[in-house]
Amino acid sequence: MLKLENITKTFDLTENKADIRVALDNISLEIDDGEFVTIIGGNGSGKSTLMNIISGAFSADSGKVIIDNENVNNLKEHKRAKFLGRVFQDPNMGTAGNMSILENMELAYKRNTQKTLKWGFKKEHYNCFKESLSKLNLGLETRLEQKVKLLSGGQRQALTLLMATIKKPKILLLDEHTAALDPKTARKVLTLTNDIITTEKITTIMITHNMRDAIKYGTRLIMMYDGKIIFDVKGEEKSKLTGEELLDKFDEQEKDII
Ligand code: ADP
Ligand code: MG
Repeated sequence: MLKLENITKTFDLTENKADIRVALDNISLEIDDGEFVTIIGGNGSGKSTLMNIISGAFSADSGKVIIDNENVNNLKEHKRAKFLGRVFQDPNMGTAGNMSILENMELAYKRNTQKTLKWGFKKEHYNCFKESLSKLNLGLETRLEQKVKLLSGGQRQALTLLMATIKKPKILLLDEHTAALDPKTARKVLTLTNDIITTEKITTIMITHNMRDAIKYGTRLIMMYDGKIIFDVKGEEKSKLTGEELLDKFDEQEKDII
């Protein structure tokens, strides 16, 4: 499904050529169809940069991004958005606040089709949208005409998630999408995320700074450090993983540096 080949990404911090930061250091990674990968790693380890390279927000200095056997290096971000779902940390980013829930959902639905919605279709969609909203258990199904800016952060993030998956994306990219929510709401949105991903079997990459969540959710866990993948487990090995073992992996790296 997704293949990264020898991806390197550097940032020039100043005009000084010597002052560069290596955000991704020759990363190769292959993710299979239906895998749910959690990514963990310290601040600045390259997690978001990796996601930005996949989405096309950044282009790599070298290396290849291959999605469904197609090299997408030259495919712009808005073109990739047609088959990628994305949810960011900031609840304001994925939805248009001045538009209604219904309008937002219609936009998300139309994202990868050229056709405009005809009235007949519209009514069908209305019922379909209502049904998927009611599954969120947030009471949004009775508020379809309301502007999204009136929703809470958690409701908005749940809606963004629904919109990102309204048409099954080839890959769903979640960048700490519950980090800005209060713990209780974060838990609710995360449970919902897991439900959608496992029911629809969506290939997913989820960045989290919460080790327990990285262990609890998903079928594969990747740890990043200093622009590199330093740990990659799946299947039974992942399900046996403990927080302590994961912390030890972190510590090993720190020791190497000292
Ligand atoms: P993470 O998401 O793991 O916290 P990032 O991928 O955001 O880390 O950042 C990796 C490294 O790249 C950091 O050193 C960061 O400062 C640098 N970086 C990321 N984005 C930019 C940018 N747009 N301009 C300059 N440096 C950046
Ligand atoms: Mg980040």
